[in-house]
Amino acid sequence: MSSNRCLIAGNWKMNGILEEALEFLSELEANPAPEHVEVALMPPFTLLHSLSKPLDEKGVRLGAQNVYYEPKGAFTGSTSPMMLRDAGCHYVILGHSERRDIMGETNAVVRHKMDAAWSAGLEPILCIGEHLEERESGRTNEVLKSQLAILADVDADAALTIAYEPVWAIGTGRTASPEQVTETHAFIHQELQRLGHDCRVLYGGSVNPGNAEALMRCPGVEGALVGGASLKADSFMQIVKAAA
Ligand code: PEP
Repeated sequence: MSSNRCLIAGNWKMNGILEEALEFLSELEANPAPEHVEVALMPPFTLLHSLSKPLDEKGVRLGAQNVYYEPKGAFTGSTSPMMLRDAGCHYVILGHSERRDIMGETNAVVRHKMDAAWSAGLEPILCIGEHLEERESGRTNEVLKSQLAILADVDADAALTIAYEPVWAIGTGRTASPEQVTETHAFIHQELQRLGHDCRVLYGGSVNPGNAEALMRCPGVEGALVGGASLKADSFMQIVKAAA
């Protein structure tokens, strides 16, 4: 793992109120991140402005969990890329399986959002991953290839991170085995290279302090996108340290 490419990002999903976030921040004081691991946090929209400065002071980058592709206007309930920049975000998660499966986001919508994110100076973390039945029927690579195909005409130097998240491993406590992770990351890197990209690829799916080290040691894994285990500063920072 090349040290300057390693990122541990915490996706809080629809969790966290201000009081909990402040407690998390105070626990971070006691758990500084090792220098060569980049750390980022994606809290809900309501906490972005409040967490921007204190996280920046701790060297933690801020990200959002979604964005809308229009710059402004009559889109009730939506948040624009410039609004995220204004709140201090560097990253935005796009294509998360919960948004694909629950909110019906297609690859085309995800690409539209990526273009909007880039034009505002955000770095997308593009999530890709197969469902259990797709893995069991031998279609994993086909699914990943179709999700990555939206990068075909994207500039090679566009700021971009990929997160491989097998859907069957998200929030289930079931992680992909190191063999599955190694094999799938190799395929993703190969596919990215074919498309002209050399970007960082994270693993996500029930990463916790107990399995982080083994997962982060797999060739081709350059960090993690962490859901449930990022809600507590202690477990999140144990994962960060496992990546060091
Ligand atoms: C995620 O939401 O991206 C995720 C990986 O969640 P969890 O770690 O809870 O499986």
